[in-house]
Amino acid sequence: MSEKSNPCQSCGACCANFRVSFYWAEADDGGGAIPSQFTEKVNDWTRCMRGTWSNSPRCVALQGEVGRSVACGIYAARPSACREVEAGSAQCHKARAAHGLAVLRDDAVAVNEPQPLLTG
Ligand code: SF4
Ligand code: SF4
Repeated sequence: MSEKSNPCQSCGACCANFRVSFYWAEADDGGGAIPSQFTEKVNDWTRCMRGTWSNSPRCVALQGEVGRSVACGIYAARPSACREVEAGSAQCHKARAAHGLAVLRDDAVAVNEPQPLLTG
């Protein structure tokens, strides 16, 4: 995949800006796919990716350096919350701004094509 079609590979800001929460059963000990050792309990119904419930969040599954070269270590098993983030969205802009990264230009994101969050 080209840099133009997937700017996430040189970003990763949204993996190091928000608490990444999801329904607990998305973890593998609830029948889902997310490795449970990478998660922590938020409440009886919700878990989050370990490392993201912090004043300086960074998901434990994030590999590489934010703003340079990154990958998700559990890409195929990542939470629904991660799958739903789209490059060029308001959430993306907020995360990039928090890391001092420029807002993505329209021509950096394929039009009408949801972007996967990082790649494995
Ligand atoms: S969705 Fe946006 S903030 Fe998240 S990795 Fe992709 S470009 Fe970066
Ligand atoms: S895409 Fe991967 S590295 Fe990023 S927050 Fe989700 S699980 Fe963590």
